[in-house]
Amino acid sequence: MPFYEFRCPTCEERFEVQRSMSERDEPTSCPQGHDGAVRVITAVGVTGGIRYGTPAAAARRGTLGGTPQSDTSKPAEPEGQA
Ligand SMILES: [Zn+2]
Repeated sequence: MPFYEFRCPTCEERFEVQRSMSERDEPTSCPQGHDGAVRVITAVGVTGGIRYGTPAAAARRGTLGGTPQSDTSKPAEPEGQA
């Protein structure tokens, strides 16, 4: 079964729950015991549809606000810095 990320509105804790897809939107309890934790929609693991990576990654690479380079498909690989 896949994991789904949930967030508790009471203590702000984020945690993962393994459950079936048919139950993915069901509320659950957080590790602290609060009810009402809701599923968080995340883009973790999705790389095909993101062009420029995260803003933080872009800032690190110095491309934020500049012209996107052609190697955006490899955000983890630093550019040729000597
Ligand atoms: Zn909680």
